[in-house]
Amino acid sequence: MSASSNDRQQQQLPPMNLTDAEWKAKLTPEQYRILRKKDTEYPGTGAYDKHFEEGVYKCSGCGQDLYDSSSKFNSHCGWPAFSSSLGTAVRRQKDADGHREEILCGNCDGHLGHVFEGEGLRDSNGKLVQQRHCMKLEGESLKIKKKKKQPKKTLPKNVFEIVGESGQIVERVDPKKKEKKADQIQDREPKPTFSERTKKRRRREWDAMNYESFDITRGRDFEKALQRVATRGIVQLFNTVRKQQQQQHRSSSKKEKKDTTINKGEFLDMLKTIDSDEVSCKIMKKNPSKIESTTTTATTPVRWNVLQDDLMASVQDNSDDDD
Ligand SMILES: [Zn+2]
Repeated sequence: MSASSNDRQQQQLPPMNLTDAEWKAKLTPEQYRILRKKDTEYPGTGAYDKHFEEGVYKCSGCGQDLYDSSSKFNSHCGWPAFSSSLGTAVRRQKDADGHREEILCGNCDGHLGHVFEGEGLRDSNGKLVQQRHCMKLEGESLKIKKKKKQPKKTLPKNVFEIVGESGQIVERVDPKKKEKKADQIQDREPKPTFSERTKKRRRREWDAMNYESFDITRGRDFEKALQRVATRGIVQLFNTVRKQQQQQHRSSSKKEKKDTTINKGEFLDMLKTIDSDEVSCKIMKKNPSKIESTTTTATTPVRWNVLQDDLMASVQDNSDDDD
């Protein structure tokens, strides 16, 4: 058999109409005996009976593809069995006795075996077999062409497969891709709803209303203003006291016997109505240190018979220190 015949496809093979002598010359004695003389072998003696490698079984006479290994099953009868042939690769004809149905190569009419139907046999998957093609492989009437093994797909590093109970791949896990997916999900955070947006806006407005940033210059100005008010009050107080003392002095010089005591209410009224000494205030604004000199030196002796509270005492202390 030439190499080119092996490569020929089932459909493309030209019919082989060789004479008996030509077949005898072409085939081995075993092949000739089975393929051309329809002989048989003892069961369980063939190489392919328990052979289940993946491949295609070909005709030894002409090289035509006949059966695929996927249709082969263990019939336990001692001969290789197939549930179906490849397309029109084989043809059938009744035996001379009329009982059995012979299977022949569709291309070269070589004898392959017999077909049996309705035996209730099951294949390796448990599927009921409608017909059994009982082949005579012992005489190498068939040849197997092993299927090319597909290279194992090598998985990238860190990628692993989750295999199910029946061996199938359930999931292929790539941690990097998972991380990416997770990032994408995080990026795609759901948009806030209308009510959420409203809540946020109201909170911002509320915060803006209540928020007062601490301004150090503003605090200093406020402190200065308070100092000014306090100083003005003290100056006013001193002037009032002085005025009162002057009145007392005048009345005593005129020898007018008048009650010189004044109650607190009258004094406070005087404070309210009296016009502050503008000159003193102006001096105070320009140079507060001169206040004491202008006020305390106005009259002597100073008698605090009217005001005796702590404030006055502290003011006097301060003035004494400055002197
Ligand atoms: Zn053939």
